[in-house]
Amino acid sequence: MYNLAEKNHKSLIENLKRRGIIEDDDVYNTMLQVDRGKYIKENPYVDTPVYISHGVTISSPHMHALSLKRLMSVLKPGSRAIDVGSGSGYLTVCMAIRTKVLENKNSFVIGIERVKDLVDFSIENIKGDKPELLKLDNFKIIHKNIYQVNEEEKKELGLFDAIHVGASASELPEILVDLLAEDGKMIIPIEEGYTQVLYEITKKNGKIIKERLFDVCFVSLKKN
Ligand code: SAH
Repeated sequence: MYNLAEKNHKSLIENLKRRGIIEDDDVYNTMLQVDRGKYIKENPYVDTPVYISHGVTISSPHMHALSLKRLMSVLKPGSRAIDVGSGSGYLTVCMAIRTKVLENKNSFVIGIERVKDLVDFSIENIKGDKPELLKLDNFKIIHKNIYQVNEEEKKELGLFDAIHVGASASELPEILVDLLAEDGKMIIPIEEGYTQVLYEITKKNGKIIKERLFDVCFVSLKKN
């Protein structure tokens, strides 16, 4: 038996470890440094998505852990990472911690979020957790719909070694394929009939390789 509601962040992360969800030390160390209680007030230490506002949720800790695990090989000091649908900012900050944006100026981490209120919400969360990130040039949360990124903005963004998409797409968005660097990885839920499937997408010699992982349940990636 295990408790669903833990008393603090450390216990939540230990719970994920005990259940075999967090197996690797890198995911453990990264998530341990980002207290979920700073990103959502209600039931932060329960392994479940929690409603934020605007019809969206902060993803469950086990989803954050499983996505981070898949991205670990391309999330290193010096990596460029983007969190699409950054919502609460939780996973964006995990990416910043893992790539050491504070010390490594080659690292670049960006969260992109369609709802302005949520951009503000995530910035407030980060202020309350890791305010030093908000002073950096290589860490940003921007207000933008990923489908509305134009050619000029695409060039400005550059290519990413790690792409995390926190909302489910009807099909693999072309813009994200274009933003993925050679040997880069993207984790994205894609709708299939009435369900959604999490995919790991890798770019190798300019070609896209898709690995089907497992069924998931995310809010949808809005076209406009
Ligand atoms: N990883 C986030 C998930 C938030 S839910 C967290 O754990 O907090 C998914 C987010 O995607 C929502 O905040 C939603 O507003 C955003 N979103 C949906 N469609 C989008 C789009 N086309 N471009 C950017 N963000 C989008």
